Amino acid sequence: MAVINWFPGHMKKTQREIKENLKLVDAVIEIRDARIPRSSANPDIDKLCEGKPRIILLNKSDLAEPRVMKMWINHLTSENVKVIEVNCLTGKGLNQIKPVLEGLLKEKHDRLKSKGLVKIQMRVMVVGIPNVGKSTFINKMAKNNIAKTGDRPGVTKSKQWIKTKMDIEMMDTPGVLWPKFEDENTALSLAFTGAIKDEIMDIEELSYNLVKRLQNHYGDKLKDRYKLKEINEDPLETLNDIARRRGCLIKGGEIDYNRIAVILLDEFRGGKIGNISLERPDDSFEEKEEEVEK
Ligand code: GDP
Repeated sequence: MAVINWFPGHMKKTQREIKENLKLVDAVIEIRDARIPRSSANPDIDKLCEGKPRIILLNKSDLAEPRVMKMWINHLTSENVKVIEVNCLTGKGLNQIKPVLEGLLKEKHDRLKSKGLVKIQMRVMVVGIPNVGKSTFINKMAKNNIAKTGDRPGVTKSKQWIKTKMDIEMMDTPGVLWPKFEDENTALSLAFTGAIKDEIMDIEELSYNLVKRLQNHYGDKLKDRYKLKEINEDPLETLNDIARRRGCLIKGGEIDYNRIAVILLDEFRGGKIGNISLERPDDSFEEKEEEVEK
C-alpha cells in the first residue's frame, strides 16, 4: 500500500494559523485516538505548542483495550505529560479536564488572584489530526451551554469562544493537524481507524492488513466475532474464512473481497470486534519487517 502524503501546501497555512491562535489561549487540548496514541500524534506538535501548557486526551477510550490504555497513561505520565482517557460521545473523563488545567495554570492564576481577580476563565484551543473527535469534544463540552461569547477588544473579529460549564472557554474552530507517515505501520494504523479517507485507499488490501495486524494480537476476538474454528497462519486464509462466514461470495464461490473489506473495516471501527488497541508504548504491536515506502 502506498503511503499517502496529502498535506504539504495548505497545512503550512494551517500551522501558521494555529501558531497565531495559540497566542490567544492559556492552554492546548490535544486530542488523540486512544487506539493509536502514537500514530494519531502530530510530529511537530511539541514545537508548535512550545511554551503552552498542554493536556492530551486519549479519546474513543470505549474502543481501546483498557489494559493497554493504562500502559499509555503510565508511559506518558512518566514523561511528564498530562493525559486523560475520555469518551467524547458519553462525556466520560471530561470532568477531569478542569482540575488538570487548573494545576497547569496554577502559577498564573495565583498571580491573577493576588491582583484581585476573582473569577478566572481559562481559554483553550483544541487541536488534533482528522477524525480523532475534535468536533464531538467541543459539542459535548458545550452541551446545554451552546451560547458563544461575543468578540472582545483585541481578539480577532471572527474568533468565537464557546462557553462551557467548567470555567473554560474554547475556540470554536479546532486546529487540524496532519498526522505523520513515517512508515507503513503508521499509515496503516491511521487508515484502520478511519483517519485517512477510504476513498483514497485500496480497502481490499487494507482489510487484509487489518486481519494480519489483528490476528497477531487479538486472534481470539477475531475467532469469537466471526465464529472461526481456528486462526490460519496466513492472514489471507483467515480473511477468506471470515468472508465465507459472512457469505461474501460471488458467482462460482469466489471471495467478494470488496464486500468483506467494507464489513471488516466497519465492524472494527464500530468496536464490534471488541476493545482493541493497535499500538503499545513499547512498540511491540507493530510489525517490524515492513520497509518505509517513500
Ligand atoms: P474530528 O474530525 O476530529 O472533528 O472528529 P469528529 O468529532 O468528527 O469525530 C469523528 C468520528 O468519531 C465521529 O463518527 C464521532 O462520532 C466519533 N467519535 C468521537 N468521539 C468518540 C468516542 O469517544 N468514542 C467513539 N466510539 N466514537 C467517537
